[in-house]
Amino acid sequence: MADERTFIMIKPDGVQRGLVGNIISRFESRGYQLIAMKFQLATKQILEKHYEEHISKPFFPSLLKFMLSGPVVPMVWQGKDVVKQGRAMLGQTNPLTSAPGTIRGDFGIVMQKNLVHGSDSVESAKREIAIWFQDSELTHWKPAQNAWIYE
Ligand code: UDP
Repeated sequence: MADERTFIMIKPDGVQRGLVGNIISRFESRGYQLIAMKFQLATKQILEKHYEEHISKPFFPSLLKFMLSGPVVPMVWQGKDVVKQGRAMLGQTNPLTSAPGTIRGDFGIVMQKNLVHGSDSVESAKREIAIWFQDSELTHWKPAQNAWIYE
């Protein structure tokens, strides 16, 4: 469905390395629609909700420290198959096994500093969008280019 949504977040390393424009541009050029975006320092509370499934893992304290080390860019993108396609555009969790052409495969080397987060299912996307955005922050608009992408 063309109204599928995913949660994509540029991590502090992506911001510090000046890759915000490049990452946004990949989603824009693919034809996906930006629905919401913020630029902010995350908090421990929001990250503990976001990474709920990882809280008891050994890498969590270090992941938390990294995610709090600078601003992040949380975003909502919309379009057909955007959850699965978004993950494919990111690459694998480990940048070293990510194909060139993916964000992590083009710009990353180590597991933690993999530049960007993307929801892994439609269900997680709904959960993550609700953690980072109020309903009123999700903007309704009709991109003029949609007819040239979908029809
Ligand atoms: N991570 C880490 N060490 C690990 C596994 C994961 O630092 O051994 C970090 C990495 O930044 C990753 C995030 O924790 O993106 C969340 O892990 P997940 O397995 O959910 O990977 P993702 O869905 O982001 O590919």
